[in-house]
Amino acid sequence: MSYRVGIVGATGAVGQELIQLLLQREFPMESLRCFASRRSAGKSITVAGKPIEIEETRKTIFKSLDLAFFATGAELAQQLAPEAIQRGCVVIDNSSAYRQHKQVPLVIPEINAGAGYKHRGLLANPNCSIAVSLMGLYPLHKAFGLKRVICSTYQAVSGAGAEGLTELQDQVHAWAEGREEAEPQVFPHHNIAFNLIPHVDRFGKDGYTGEETKMLKEGRKILELPELKLSATCVRVPVFRAHSIAMNAEFEKPVDLRLARQAIEIFEGAELCDEPESCVYPTPLQFSERVRCGVGRLRKDSVFDNGLALFVSGDQLWKGAALNAVQIAESLDMAGKLTMPSRPLFVAPAKKAAAKKKTTAKKKVLAGKKAAARKKK
Ligand code: NAP
Repeated sequence: MSYRVGIVGATGAVGQELIQLLLQREFPMESLRCFASRRSAGKSITVAGKPIEIEETRKTIFKSLDLAFFATGAELAQQLAPEAIQRGCVVIDNSSAYRQHKQVPLVIPEINAGAGYKHRGLLANPNCSIAVSLMGLYPLHKAFGLKRVICSTYQAVSGAGAEGLTELQDQVHAWAEGREEAEPQVFPHHNIAFNLIPHVDRFGKDGYTGEETKMLKEGRKILELPELKLSATCVRVPVFRAHSIAMNAEFEKPVDLRLARQAIEIFEGAELCDEPESCVYPTPLQFSERVRCGVGRLRKDSVFDNGLALFVSGDQLWKGAALNAVQIAESLDMAGKLTMPSRPLFVAPAKKAAAKKKTTAKKKVLAGKKAAARKKK
């Protein structure tokens, strides 16, 4: 079977990788259409030597698609995914919009492909930091039973989209040419060049950032381990591509290094890269544009009982986004499940933020008027 495929957000960092991977992996496509905002409509990009025109994203496009990969922000996904499902188009969403929705499978095919087969028209792709982390943690979980994790991330600037890449490039060029750098726009308050910023996503009331909380919640959902404990510190570093994560994990069963290595070696999502005496360990440069994530620096942890320490590097634009999304589509296709089920998921489309703000402002004015009237009485 071949599919009429669309990419919404085709001009972005993830969208561009989706195009490349769909072609490289010869995903069965009857047609491929590329969508973005009105700003990009009419421009063209070259795909396999042929120009493809970028179209403006409208609700109506979905009636002529079988499958749409969403690579936009969460707000837009909330507006458009319900419209796509209603029109019979299966959606694989890269944003965080639906990852915690009970009826939306959050899938990493090497771990829980079966969860994806029960989809109701919408599947979510996990957060990039947890996706890369799990390529090291999951095989160890299968061997010893994961209990809790403490980790720090080293996250590439492309994790913040195409603008993140440009900001690092511009700052490095300015430094090399002796010019003053422009004010940071993408990364909060600090230059990212020659620096690192322990701030990815917004801070919550508990002091953890959104990214750190996503790692915990999504890890629990994917592994079906509601009791899993995970404390992350997420750090943006001046690396263009591929996230790395240093982890200390505690397990239910006593750990054995030989078995741990074996478990990683046979896991299809990972490549064991662990000969420290020869300087062999994963690095982001080495694991950019690689299907498998590198796992190394494996050792018994000196703090946790039954503990292991490890270091993972993996391409967050691939395993943390575009590649995983394409692998989800491939696994559904192989299982004959890449069709709209008889009972598609119903979620009401979210209103545009501007409209919502207007309504809230209106409500506040009305409430103020009512309060003033009550006072007068
Ligand atoms: P990006 O580089 O900023 O790209 C955003 C895309 O969204 C662009 O194609 C943009 O089109 C499009 N867009 C913006 N407003 C739109 C509108 N009103 N209508 C239609 N399209 C619109 O972002 P990204 O890094 O690719 O991320 C895309 C999604 O994937 C996000 O939800 C992100 O959290 C998630 N994600 C990213 C990564 C990563 O490593 N970057 C990893 C995992 C998940 P224009 O060019 O026309 O503005």
